[in-house]
Amino acid sequence: MAVLSRCSRAVTAATTPNAAAAKFSYLIRALSPFSSSSSSTFDADNGLNSRIKPAVFGALKREPKDRNVQWVFLGCPGVGKGTYASRLSDLLGIPHIATGDLVRDELASSGPLSSQLKEIVNQGKLVSDEIIVDLLSKRLEAGEAKGESGFILDGFPRTVRQAEILEGVTDIDLVINLKLREEALLAKCLGRRICSECGGNYNVACIDIKAENGKPGMYMAPLPPPPQCASKLITRADDTEEVVKQRLRIYQAMTLPVEDFYRSRGKLLEFDLPGGVRESWPKLLHALNLEDEEDKQSAAA
Ligand code: ADP
Repeated sequence: MAVLSRCSRAVTAATTPNAAAAKFSYLIRALSPFSSSSSSTFDADNGLNSRIKPAVFGALKREPKDRNVQWVFLGCPGVGKGTYASRLSDLLGIPHIATGDLVRDELASSGPLSSQLKEIVNQGKLVSDEIIVDLLSKRLEAGEAKGESGFILDGFPRTVRQAEILEGVTDIDLVINLKLREEALLAKCLGRRICSECGGNYNVACIDIKAENGKPGMYMAPLPPPPQCASKLITRADDTEEVVKQRLRIYQAMTLPVEDFYRSRGKLLEFDLPGGVRESWPKLLHALNLEDEEDKQSAAA
């Protein structure tokens, strides 16, 4: 809670006692009658919200306990949501939950959803709201069982309906909207490399955009893997030029309205990445008023 109170812009619900995972179990029960439809419209008055809210508030009354921060990262594919969310997760000791990772785990599991998901993901399309909420609910429930509190969500919500569902069950404190010049996004996705053993994310792209027509230049150094990962690097099947362009189009169509959703609720922190991690990380910490946290962590190391 100390972190939370320092992030004045972030805190809109510091005193709201809740347990996101518990709420999501209500959410998934409430969603099940809809599970065959991926495009059903969400009616805030007559739909999911009103059906699950009484149960959720009942749970709040039964379990009045504090929680940790509940943050969301928004931003186009390739912007670096995973990089910064995972760094903040390490710094604050809050779980980083990336729905893209949940989808990829499901893909790798050869479970019943696997082949359906593979087709969707490899075409750069979005998985249905029901499937993604189901995967997220299970992840939150598993976390709760391990005693996790709070979360940094990465890749969720990605549609207004997902945002409405989330808003209906819990209070998000802050949404960090990462922005990067469009010229860099495709190169960042194509340069992404993942260690097949530890899951670490690296990037071989060296982005050097020259200043032009009054626009400043931008340099982003590659993010090389440590020696132990170097021989185990793989690329994501959906990081091809054609699929990345499709994901960028889908972001514009489906996820840009999510930015407006949170902007209108006063929860959106816009953050223009000034360059690579070395330059951007301290500025992000400053924007979040978290410099002290890093100082404490380095002092303890
Ligand atoms: P990106 O680099 O495009 O942000 P992610 O790793 O977050 O990629 O997600 C990979 C894929 O997983 C997406 O293209 C989509 O098919 C699926 N996915 C992840 N999160 C969601 C979500 N919230 N809603 C729908 N589909 C999702």
